[in-house]
Amino acid sequence: MTSFLKFAKLCKDVESVSGTLEKIDLVAGFLAELDESELSVAPGFIMGTVFSSRSDLVMGVGPSILYEALARACGCPPEQISSMLRATGDPGLVAAGVVQRRKPLGFASFIGGEQLSISEVYQRFLAIAHASGKRSHDTKIKNLQFLFSQASPLEAQYIARLAIEDMRIGVGEGGVRDAISKAFGMSAEDVERAYNLTNDMGLVAVSAKRGTLSELNVILNHPIKMMLAQLGEGIPAALQELGTAAIEWKYDGARVQIHKDGQKVRIFSRRLENVTASLPEIVSAVKANIRAKSAILDGEVVAMLRPTVATPVNFAVNEIGQDERPMAFQEILKRFRRKYNVEKLAVQIPLRLFLFDLIYLDGKSVIDQPLKDRRALLEMVADPSLLAKQVLSNSPEVAEEIYRQALDAGHEGLMLKNPSSVYAPGKRGKNWLKIKPVMETLDLVVIGAKWGEGRRASLLGSYRLGCLEPETGMLLDVGWVATGLTDEALSDLTEMFKGLIVVEKGMELELKPAVIFEVAYEEIQKSPNYSSGYALRFPRLVAVRDDKSIEEADTIERVIALYKAQRGRNSAS
Ligand code: AMP
Repeated sequence: MTSFLKFAKLCKDVESVSGTLEKIDLVAGFLAELDESELSVAPGFIMGTVFSSRSDLVMGVGPSILYEALARACGCPPEQISSMLRATGDPGLVAAGVVQRRKPLGFASFIGGEQLSISEVYQRFLAIAHASGKRSHDTKIKNLQFLFSQASPLEAQYIARLAIEDMRIGVGEGGVRDAISKAFGMSAEDVERAYNLTNDMGLVAVSAKRGTLSELNVILNHPIKMMLAQLGEGIPAALQELGTAAIEWKYDGARVQIHKDGQKVRIFSRRLENVTASLPEIVSAVKANIRAKSAILDGEVVAMLRPTVATPVNFAVNEIGQDERPMAFQEILKRFRRKYNVEKLAVQIPLRLFLFDLIYLDGKSVIDQPLKDRRALLEMVADPSLLAKQVLSNSPEVAEEIYRQALDAGHEGLMLKNPSSVYAPGKRGKNWLKIKPVMETLDLVVIGAKWGEGRRASLLGSYRLGCLEPETGMLLDVGWVATGLTDEALSDLTEMFKGLIVVEKGMELELKPAVIFEVAYEEIQKSPNYSSGYALRFPRLVAVRDDKSIEEADTIERVIALYKAQRGRNSAS
């Protein structure tokens, strides 16, 4: 039995080396020594996902539960915990500090008492995830409290990070995959394939140890990674690449993977979370309109603004009415997140389902069949009312026409797919090309910044952006940009902004407006959280526009005009 202390030491070592290969070596050495039951949980622990998306279990521990458990286990006043948190910004270090104060002379593991094992910690996490109903809050706290009362400071550091599933040791999915392949002498491709099919790193590790990786396949009721699309370089180039393509609308909605097992239906989101309870009309539509005993279906749900469908549980034929438009993306997210009063929201935000692929049918995986055969099977089992329309053509004119129709209807663009391609779980490749209009970039003023965390604590990790209100000369914020930046770029930017700091409040800084960032984004959304009333979705830094002065920044009027122009959407939301 491997102690949790050994795992905590591994995490500390991994955290302290900076090279990816060194990290992988350390993890591989650790995994190679575990027995099968430990191996089924440790890879998830390392990635900070205690429960695989196969299990439907959710830890449900937020900072407040964590700190209450710590306070109780160590008799530490909550105010002290809050001030430690302000000082370190790291829940793991807070936990280590609190536990350290509780037992200055030693802890169980030092004085030869019972040590926590990896399996025991996992059992406690299971009890936390299973806690439900009125007493669930208490049950979660009691289990965590037990763990903290047994833990050494180092163990407490990683118990806390695991509880909130944020490990910060710099090893993600790819790193753990490589470590498994190294530990058990399997090829990285085989490990990746197995993981994309099962989404369970523990299962993959155990199978790698047994040498049975190739036996893993699609499993009904367990989500598999979704196939993804690459950005095409326009219709002619994409068709040149593909020859004859399966042309479909790129619907403006949210991805769903639907598992039908007899009369039982489960729906998973793009992030492979189980969202079945939030989408009752999709469950009913699948039960009523899929003629298969078992199937895994891939598609998009779209929220429709003025639906011609009478009730949300009753699907009409999948012709989109003239007056129907997709609602803004946030509306669908509201549906996905809603746990209570789902029926009421379903009336306000009705959803339509468009199926475009089939992964599994009547007991068998069909991922290795070409798209055109999967589509034929899909057409056999699914009522036409649920099918995404598809046209096979190599003509740029035909594709242009479908593209125009999709944009006119308020959707995102086109998907051009290779009809001979297999379904490649988790892969973003040339067999699915997306075509969509390029959003114009915005030139925005950097008005604030935030220090990074962990490894990036000494770097400014994200930047607050503002647009200009010409009448007043004020800068109105439109959100933060954090992505698109390498450590090296961040360190240059940090140097540049150090001289512009106006005030520092905790982790956040106010900056003298002097620098313009050119920012790309996926969409502009209305947002009450920012003084402009708008926010950028998925912003990323394109360039630092040293050549531009603040007066040349984009105005709030331009933000509003772009918001209105995006994809001809009705801007009711
Ligand atoms: P993106 O999110 O921009 O990478 O585009 C890929 C996403 O487009 C998929 O994950 C789906 O959610 C969505 N999508 C909409 N229509 C289709 C379609 N006909 N085929 C595949 N994906 C689609």
